[in-house]
Amino acid sequence: MWRPGLKMWRPGLKMWRPGWKTWRPAFASKWVTMSFFPDMGCKSLVAAGDHVRAVGWLHPEHPYTKGDVPANFLARLKEFAARSGDSAEALYFGAFGGFHTCEFCGQAHGIGNFGVPSGALLFVAPEMIVHYIEEHAYRPPAEFIEAILRSPLPNTEEYQLITEPFWHMHRKVVKRMTQES
Ligand SMILES: [Zn+2]
Repeated sequence: MWRPGLKMWRPGLKMWRPGWKTWRPAFASKWVTMSFFPDMGCKSLVAAGDHVRAVGWLHPEHPYTKGDVPANFLARLKEFAARSGDSAEALYFGAFGGFHTCEFCGQAHGIGNFGVPSGALLFVAPEMIVHYIEEHAYRPPAEFIEAILRSPLPNTEEYQLITEPFWHMHRKVVKRMTQES
């Protein structure tokens, strides 16, 4: 059974490394290696199910689609990535996930994940997707590009309304998990 990456997170611990502008959350074991999930698959680190479509969970051991993306898409994608916290809250991602380092170059770090609703589907992407596009020529699926251009931004009421069914779905999974353990 799929479970969110809950055990990777130890709240409250902070650490600092040269080059970082602020203290950042530290994790129980080591840096969480960025998990690989195939594009358009139903599983991601923070949510899974028939409604989920994973996008941008790349790993050097797996080939990925390369190509140019529209400039307006990239600009809007950055707005989504910057609002990962709002998105995670609206979608009940909670503290799932972890601190990712880009495994292609080791030069970029990301901690957030966000969701982009599209009808009955929810695209789930890591914040790091922006870096993959800009530095590693990644081209996400066309459906995702369309969804980003159409969906309201995570800190809006409209987004909250659209994503409410997903919030309930994810909350149910978390409840089941906490009852089991
Ligand atoms: Zn990189």
